[in-house]
Amino acid sequence: MLKLDILVFAAHPDDAELGCSGTIAAQVAKGYKVGIVDLTHGEMGTRGTPETRLKEAAKAAQILGLAARENMGFQDVFFKDDAEHQLKLIQVIRKYQPEIVLANAVNDRHPDHGKGASLATNACFMSGLEKIETYQHGIKQSAWRPKFVYHYIQNNYIQPDFIVDISEFWDSKVNSIAAFGSQFYNPESKEPASFISSPEFLPFIESRAREFGHRIQSKYGEGFTIERFIGVTDLFDLK
Ligand SMILES: [Zn+2]
Repeated sequence: MLKLDILVFAAHPDDAELGCSGTIAAQVAKGYKVGIVDLTHGEMGTRGTPETRLKEAAKAAQILGLAARENMGFQDVFFKDDAEHQLKLIQVIRKYQPEIVLANAVNDRHPDHGKGASLATNACFMSGLEKIETYQHGIKQSAWRPKFVYHYIQNNYIQPDFIVDISEFWDSKVNSIAAFGSQFYNPESKEPASFISSPEFLPFIESRAREFGHRIQSKYGEGFTIERFIGVTDLFDLK
């Protein structure tokens, strides 16, 4: 069994790269095992196909040094935060037994993001309930509740509760985003333009990272929101 330290849920392949890949790269560099579970293939996206998105996701996984990446194959746009989808997420949470879960932004322009956030939050709590029985390869899984769920910030500005300094991992973030070549600005592309394929989109991502970085006196940062207070025993652990 592969136990992960950090499991990242993403409604669409590229959500994790855009929202928290600097943090992922930073944690991987410290030796932690990190995996991404994409909920859908992003098949309703304007550009690319589910097949190209899968290949792009695998390339980004390699760039970030992920220990695992899988796709739940939920229906893009139409998946629900209901018992059927919660049970499937509980199975992967129990399979990977992560200490920390990173999940979509609590609310955003794309309704799948807020929905993915609440689905992940609910599944993380429910995964700790012994009486919810799930099986993997016919074997009953043990209950498991991650210690923390943090939400990355996506398109819409949300005031973060804490910021991770990703200055040293900015190149990894940019490269992991670039792996999704079908989605972003490419003057040669014959596909229809989309919200994220505009030449303004990637500079916007950089501006957001610089804004968050600036607020903690570093170059680049990624912001997160919390579900419960975080505590420290040593004030010097805060920077
Ligand atoms: Zn998305």
